Order: sequence, then C-alpha cells, then structure tokens
Amino acid sequence: MRKSLLATTLAIATSIAISSWAQTPTSKATDPLAIGGKDTAWFMDRINRPDLDSEPQAPFKLAGNVYYIGANNIASILIATPKGLILIDTGTQKMASVVFPNMVKLGFKPADIKLMLLSHAHYDHMETMETIRRLTGATVAALEPELQALTSGHDLGPNETWGQEPLEVGRILQSGDDIALGGTHITVVWTPGHTPGAATYFINTMENGKPVQVVFGGPPNPNTGSAEYDTRPADAFAAYAALRQMHPEIMITGHPANLLKGKLEALWAGKGPSPLTLAPGQWEKMINNSEANFRHKLTTGEASGGGD
Ligand SMILES: [Zn+2]
Repeated sequence: MRKSLLATTLAIATSIAISSWAQTPTSKATDPLAIGGKDTAWFMDRINRPDLDSEPQAPFKLAGNVYYIGANNIASILIATPKGLILIDTGTQKMASVVFPNMVKLGFKPADIKLMLLSHAHYDHMETMETIRRLTGATVAALEPELQALTSGHDLGPNETWGQEPLEVGRILQSGDDIALGGTHITVVWTPGHTPGAATYFINTMENGKPVQVVFGGPPNPNTGSAEYDTRPADAFAAYAALRQMHPEIMITGHPANLLKGKLEALWAGKGPSPLTLAPGQWEKMINNSEANFRHKLTTGEASGGGD
C-alpha cells in the first residue's frame, strides 16, 4: 500500500516535471542553434523536408560563354572568360555535388573561379559560397544593401530562412555597376524586396558573332504591408526605371524548373535559337505588370512580397 502510494506520488511528480519542462518555451536568443531568427525546431523540420529543388541536372549553354550549371530548380550561372570563371549563385550544400561536376563536364576547373556574385542572400542560392571562396580565393562582390545579411550570416529578408555561413565580401557593388572580367561585362541592377539587396544581372556575351544579353533575375518583388520589411517605394521605382533601360534577349531565373519545362532537350542539343529567348515586348510587359501590381498594393495597403 505504502509502496504503491509512493509510486503514484512519484508518477505524478514526474508527469508534472515533464509537462512543466515541455511547456518551457525555447528562447531564440538563448537557443545555441538559433541562426537567421530560426530556432532548433525550425532546423529539425528543415532536415526532415525533402529538398527536391537541388536534384542534379545536366548543364547547358545559355549563350556565348554563359552556361547553366545549377540543379533542376535552383540556378547557378557560369561565365567562362580567358581571365577566369565568374559564378553567379552557388546553390545549396546538396548542390555542391551538382555545380562542380557540371563545371568539369563543360571542361572548366573550379580552381579557376575568380569572381562570385549572388542573386540574393538566401541560403538556397549561396549556402556553399564562403566555402568555395576559401578554396579558390575568388572575390565575392555584392550590392551594399545585402552586406549586413551576408557578413552576419543572418537572413534579413521578409520570409526569413535559416541563414548561411558568414561570407567575406571583397567588393561592394552599386546599382548600375559594370562588372568586368576577361572581356565579359555584366551590369548589376538593384531589385530590392525579396531581400534588401536582391540583384538582377545582365550578362553581355557574343553568340555566332553577334552581341547577346542574358538576364539572370527579373523585376523586383517589393515588400508592402510589413512594418519591418517594407521596401521603400522610391527604391522599387528606381529598379523599374533601371530595368526598362535594359533590353535582354535571353532570360534565366533563380528557380527555373517551370521556365525550363519542355525546353531541356533543345537546350542540351544546343541547336537553333535558344528556347529561353524572350518574345518581342515580353521583358517590358513583365516590368509593367510588376510595377502596376506594386502600385495597386501601395494604394490598397495589401501585403505583398516574400516568394522564394
Ligand atoms: Zn530567396
């Protein structure tokens, strides 16, 4: 009887202890694994999620000396110049086994990477960038408004993800800058919203003796309706104006699975005009639609932004 009472008391005490422990909230500030504003639970969830965007995909030429060497739904762009390689976005950790083999398959050496650029500071586009920088000694160049997220390792976008290894940035870019290496010129345009320093790149190359411009990225995705992350309308309008000055012929995006659907065979075969060629007026239409949408959200106070 006494023994059973003791057992019951112990069981009650244990259950109180367990429930009070389970109810103790994990403070993000003291969580040793917290990074980019996410706590341990978020991390564990991410590990359990299948990453289908980083699956291998064979590389193809976009135009001239510009190649797609990324995964099935996360881009990595290689520009091969006589003075070395430029890489825009390096993808997830899982994509290290996609990007490097693709580079080698095309006949290029990872050791020749001299310059790295990024679309924006979200881990899925540059999780391995600092590692590659250390291995190759390449310079990382980034727009000034993205520096804080890059050097701290914390994702400062409106739809925060888990951050990345802090990145050493060797060159700070301003919107409109000309980035040149080995005769190739790239214009960067600041397209803020998705993250504070998101960028769109216009890569000038030659295809069959003719100049061709490849755009990586597109109109901004300005953030509205969030006190913390609102994009300054003036910055968004400046981006639209700058994008209107550009006249790209071929477009590739950061998560291109939909864009590439039904076009991969032709891209791998590399014959005829690129299936990624923009239709006449398509670029201007994209900018106009995005800007009209942004103006509408500004007037209605509707929340927008985010995306991936
Ligand atoms: Zn993103």
